[in-house]
Amino acid sequence: MITGASSGFGEAMAWRFAEAGCKLVLLARRQDRLESLRDQLIFTYHVPVHTVILDVRNVAEVDLLPGQLPEEFADVDILVNNAGLALGTSSVQDNSIDDAVTMIETNVTSVIAMTKAFVHGMIERNKGHIVNISSIAATESYGGGSVYCATKHALAAFTTATRHDLVGTAIRVTSISPGAAQTEFSLVRFKGDQEKADAVYRGFDPLTAEDIADNVLYACTRPEHVQIADILVLATNQA
Ligand code: NDP
Repeated sequence: MITGASSGFGEAMAWRFAEAGCKLVLLARRQDRLESLRDQLIFTYHVPVHTVILDVRNVAEVDLLPGQLPEEFADVDILVNNAGLALGTSSVQDNSIDDAVTMIETNVTSVIAMTKAFVHGMIERNKGHIVNISSIAATESYGGGSVYCATKHALAAFTTATRHDLVGTAIRVTSISPGAAQTEFSLVRFKGDQEKADAVYRGFDPLTAEDIADNVLYACTRPEHVQIADILVLATNQA
C-alpha cells in the first residue's frame, strides 16, 4: 500500500515494487493519474493493482479503508506512508494558517490514521512493514519552512514511538529521510509557479524519485530479522 502514488516518490515506488512482483494498492486524490499508472503497471509487469481515490486527511474514510479493500488486496504487508506536501515559503510571521493545517493534517494526522487502520491486521498476522517518508527537514529546520519542518519532526517522533510500540512483534518500522529531490513537490509548494519550482533545483544535481524508491525497496527486502530504522539520502552536493 503506497499513499501519494500519483506522482514523485510514490509513483517511482510503484514501479520498483511492481518490478519486484508485489501486489499493489495505490492511493492518491488524482484519479486520472492513478488509473493511468495502474494500467501501465499491469501492462508492463502483470501484477494485480488496486487504486484508492482518497484524500488522506479524511481520517474517517481512512479508518474504514482496510475493510473496504477487495479480498485479494486485504492483507497489507507493507504500508508506505508517503503522501505529503509543503505549502508556501513565508516566514512564521506571514504563515497562512490554512496552509499550516493542511500540512499538519496531510503529513502527520493522516500517517497516524493510516498506521492505526492497518497495524491491527499486521499484528494479527504477525507480519508487516511500515515505511514513513520523512525528510531532512525532520532533523534540520530552515527559515521559511517552520510548519513543514515541524510536521516532519513530529513524524520522526511518531515513527520512533511506533517502533517501540511494536517491539515483540515481527513488524518493522522504517523512516526514509530524503534531501532535495526533483518531483512535483516544489510545484505544489509554490502553488503552480513553475519558475520558482525550477529555481529550487538550479545549480546542483538533485535526487530523483527513483533514488528514493530504491532505498525504500532496499529497506523492505532485508532479511526479516533486520530492521532498517532510518535512511538519510542526500544529493551528493547537498550539505
Ligand atoms: P509529489 O508532490 O510529487 O507527490 C506527493 C504525493 O502525495 C502525490 O501523489 C499526491 O497525490 C499525494 N498527496 C498529497 N496530498 C494528499 C492527500 N491529501 N491525500 C492523498 N494524497 C495526497 O512530491 P514527492 O514525491 O516529492 O513527495 C512525497 C513525500 O516525500 C512527501 O511526504 C514529502 O514531504 C517527502 N519529501 C520530499 C522531498 C523532495 O525534495 N521532493 C524531500 C524530502 C521529503 P494527489 O495530489 O493526487 O493526491
